Amino acid sequence: MAAKRIVILGGGFGGVYAARALARRLGDDPAVEVALVSKDNYLVFQPMLPEVISGSIGIVDTISPLRRLCPRATLYTRVVERIDLERKRVLLAAGFAGPSLELGYDHLVVALGSVTTFAGSPGLPEHALPFKYLGDALVIRNHVIQGLEEAAVERDPGRRRALLTFVVAGGGFSGVEAVAELNDFVRRAAPSFRTIRPEEIRVVLLHAGPVILPELPESLARFAQRLLRRRGVELRLQTRLHGATAEAALLDDGERIPTRTLVSTVPASPNPLVAALPCRKERGRIVVSPHLELPEFPGVWAVGDCAWIVDARTGQPCPPTAQHAIREARCAADNIVAALRGGPMRAFSFRALGKMGSLGHRSAVAEVLGVRLSGFLAWWAWRTIYLMKLPGLDRKLRVAVDWTLDLLLPPDLVQLRVDRGVGFRREHYEPGEVIFREGDHGDWLYVVTEGEIEIVQEAGRAEERALRRLRPGDCFGEIAVVRHGPRTATARARTAANLVAVDRDAFHALFATLPPLRGFIEDLIARRLGPPAPVPAGAAGAGPGATAPAIPVEVPSA
Ligand SMILES: Cc1cc2nc3c(=O)[nH]c(=O)nc-3n(C[C@H](O)[C@H](O)[C@H](O)COP(=O)(O)OP(=O)(O)OC[C@H]3O[C@@H](n4cnc5c(N)ncnc54)[C@H](O)[C@@H]3O)c2cc1C
Repeated sequence: MAAKRIVILGGGFGGVYAARALARRLGDDPAVEVALVSKDNYLVFQPMLPEVISGSIGIVDTISPLRRLCPRATLYTRVVERIDLERKRVLLAAGFAGPSLELGYDHLVVALGSVTTFAGSPGLPEHALPFKYLGDALVIRNHVIQGLEEAAVERDPGRRRALLTFVVAGGGFSGVEAVAELNDFVRRAAPSFRTIRPEEIRVVLLHAGPVILPELPESLARFAQRLLRRRGVELRLQTRLHGATAEAALLDDGERIPTRTLVSTVPASPNPLVAALPCRKERGRIVVSPHLELPEFPGVWAVGDCAWIVDARTGQPCPPTAQHAIREARCAADNIVAALRGGPMRAFSFRALGKMGSLGHRSAVAEVLGVRLSGFLAWWAWRTIYLMKLPGLDRKLRVAVDWTLDLLLPPDLVQLRVDRGVGFRREHYEPGEVIFREGDHGDWLYVVTEGEIEIVQEAGRAEERALRRLRPGDCFGEIAVVRHGPRTATARARTAANLVAVDRDAFHALFATLPPLRGFIEDLIARRLGPPAPVPAGAAGAGPGATAPAIPVEVPSA
């Protein structure tokens, strides 16, 4: 090991620019090792993420490999599990083959950013799509295309309306940019679907304040509002998202917007690793000195979205933006080198160069060095500035080519599925909502984790027949899953309820091959069906005298 080790946690703007600045200042000095730890081996250029939703730039063109950006650093592509400030060590999770790893440090730079959590909002963890990382943009894009595909062949008017309604919550930069791209995309894509009429598409932006883009001067924000409305976005101002179900966005005034696509760009929460640190915090962010060092732990520095940094010139806290994270990273690197080699440290101060928000389709709003721009000129400035800032010449070239082709070609409609089977998911239902209906095809088994579910039969009856009520710990839906057949009853939420849903493949892999669970499910079906039920032909385990449909053993191939 080198005489001194600097460990940087996080491969975002803060971590990467700290590693790059240290490389420049330290040169080839063998006495200092710089280690960069990040769970992904790339930097995400978040300002361009909204364009991944619309496909106007390629999926991997917004990311740059850390290995190329930071060749001087030793890269650990691992998840950080624990930071021990007392012992000056960080614990990294086990990799593919290797065990977990402990790294000691002389200096530590914490640049772990923030995370998206929907905790406390009913149904959002289960049904809202977050928008922060590359994977989120890809999921949203796939989801929107799936909505269009399903709507194109859906005959039920209610379901069709929900499939063609796209809701984005949050009128800050990321919400506005996301809704602008999403709106452009679905409206440009719709003509490829013969059965979808443009007037059926509804795109809604929910914003809690009176005007969107509160970070910008009001005149620019109002320009953005007018433009979005003209392009067909429905703005719901002074409206908060309260929660969600599988079928609707729930507003705090009690209104429900039926939708199958809800994107939420709610303010981020502290990274759990940061929350666990025994140091002073302000709104969940690490409080640092003007030199960006933790007063209680010399040699530990924090930059970017996870740090609470007060600008030495203005006395104001720095906003969580990439342009601040980059300057903070360079300041921390200078001060670490000063600490190692002796020399004065500098206090952090930075005047933001401006703010810009893309509104899609050759329009944007910007305030650069005090000059306000809107429309095409702002859009041109937005593209030029961000193309210059995008790290790596190869990425710049790729994005420039993508943008040029996007002007000429129709939008791409392919879905890129990256999941290898769903397995299980969480769902939230409000009172009265139907989970499945008698006669539906059944391929999910449900476990109640919160609330109450009622099972009723209605087919061929004037009045429905209540069969049973289920509470946390109970499961339902197993009969149709085992029989590969239709639902024998309707399941409905009696109260607000949270469920874990297990798909057929996971069910067969887990329950059918694990004898105690298998026995439990078979007994349950026998009790629920009453008299012996027919055993499906060829089902494994259906020996003579079986009283319930035995669970066929089907282990999914993938
Ligand atoms: C959609 C969107 C658009 C934006 N547009 C702009 C813009 O136009 N201009 C602007 O200035 N700012 C913009 N921002 C804000 C900007 O992206 C952030 O302020 C910036 O990314 C903060 O950098 P950071 O290094 O602090 O955090 P991040 O970039 O979030 O990086 C955190 C890093 O830590 C890693 N990490 C986290 N936990 C662990 C763990 N346990 N183990 C290992 N690694 C971990 C993550 O993988 C990530 O690499 C935008 C943000 C979003 C979401």
